[in-house]
Amino acid sequence: MTMTAMQSDARRVPAAKIEQAYRERTPASRALYDRALRTMPGGSTRAATYYAPYPAYMHHGAGCRLTDVDGNVYIDCLNNYTSLVHGHARPAIVAALADVAARGTVHGAPVEAEVALAEEIIRRVPSVEQLRFTNSGTEAVMGAIRAARAYTGRAKVLKMEGGYHGSYDAAEVSVDPGADPPMWPEGRPDGAGLSPGLTGEVLVAPFNDLSAVRSLVTRHRRDLAAVIAEPVMAAAGVIPATEAFLRGLRDLTREAGVLLILDEVVTFRLAFGGAQQHYRITPDLTTFGKLLGGGLPIGAFGGRATIMAAFDRRNPETIAHSGTFNGNMATMVVGRTALDLLTMEEIARMNALGDRLRRGIQDAADATGLAMTVTGLGSLRHLHPSRARIVDYRTAVAAASRPLSALLHLALLTQGVFIAPRGMVSVSTAMSEDDVDTVIAAFRTVATMIVEGA
Ligand code: PMP
Repeated sequence: MTMTAMQSDARRVPAAKIEQAYRERTPASRALYDRALRTMPGGSTRAATYYAPYPAYMHHGAGCRLTDVDGNVYIDCLNNYTSLVHGHARPAIVAALADVAARGTVHGAPVEAEVALAEEIIRRVPSVEQLRFTNSGTEAVMGAIRAARAYTGRAKVLKMEGGYHGSYDAAEVSVDPGADPPMWPEGRPDGAGLSPGLTGEVLVAPFNDLSAVRSLVTRHRRDLAAVIAEPVMAAAGVIPATEAFLRGLRDLTREAGVLLILDEVVTFRLAFGGAQQHYRITPDLTTFGKLLGGGLPIGAFGGRATIMAAFDRRNPETIAHSGTFNGNMATMVVGRTALDLLTMEEIARMNALGDRLRRGIQDAADATGLAMTVTGLGSLRHLHPSRARIVDYRTAVAAASRPLSALLHLALLTQGVFIAPRGMVSVSTAMSEDDVDTVIAAFRTVATMIVEGA
């Protein structure tokens, strides 16, 4: 679709009507938001949960459904940004949480559950020989970068343009540099307040462009500790790597003596052994988070034992990696319960549901004449308001229409479907084909509203 056609779609969108319908359904959320504005900047404590005019405040979740404080019910296609792989309040997880709560959530000492969760991750992901737990994906990325720097004795890190790896300075470069980004390998720090030395330390490369990455790695190999990449760039628009890109990245980093960190915080759900199993590659280090905690905060990083030895405290010279809640029993028990429920069969079922969702939404968009491309892989998807081919950050930005995505999101809320404001959707094991079809039907209603300007 041409830019002009896309913009005219956006102009026809019945913005005021949709916002009015949203406001009428959500007065209690509005009241909570007004209250929150007094204690938190912008009324919010997490960038990803804010959207205009104000977010719906949730009251409870059960299975794949969320109920907000006004009693509106939504099918949850956000799943706390893909982390609730079993949806909400799954009975086995609730029971595990209740049981562990009665034994104390954290003891200031190691517990068996920590060993058991580590064993299960290592059983699933052969590239991970040893690992450490953290409380978030951000900290997992910090740990992996620290490990890579310690192991190689080099400082620089190369990341993909548009790649989001959490709220850590060395990862907050060119996450969303806009329509006029600097020329690679120069990056743009994402917002004020980051370390001024960042731009020299963090190099940026285009995703899915192997020859560009090869020339940057070759040129900077003497200073480069690691390349960090997601197998599917989630926040940039759920853009899968091509097999040639990811395998090529593995080969060229190995040849250059640079470590490859695969960020599987989001993509671990795609196969029993994570997306690295799907792509058949063996990274040096992997970062995890999200689903691993079964709904509680978690992160983990691990990989080759020789690299992870940098944290072996039997030797006092090593890195004193710590965290008050690292390996806390509540998260470890609940995480293991969630992982045990995430069988190969359930992963295959979820990926099939994701394919069904993609086909259904794409067909509904095409039938109604709404320009839309559904990207992604298996259970992870993104709705882009354009028919352009999306392969990296720049093609995603060129295809983007923030007003249209924002309206699509708000309109879907009024139809009882909860997705990420920027267009990401995921499915959970709590969903059935009927639930997916309900989402598709809601999308068709919204697409018609937008196209007809009704
Ligand atoms: N890596 C990736 C790929 C992510 O998407 C995120 C967060 N969405 C993180 C790291 C950071 O995880 P957390 O929010 O748990 O700090």
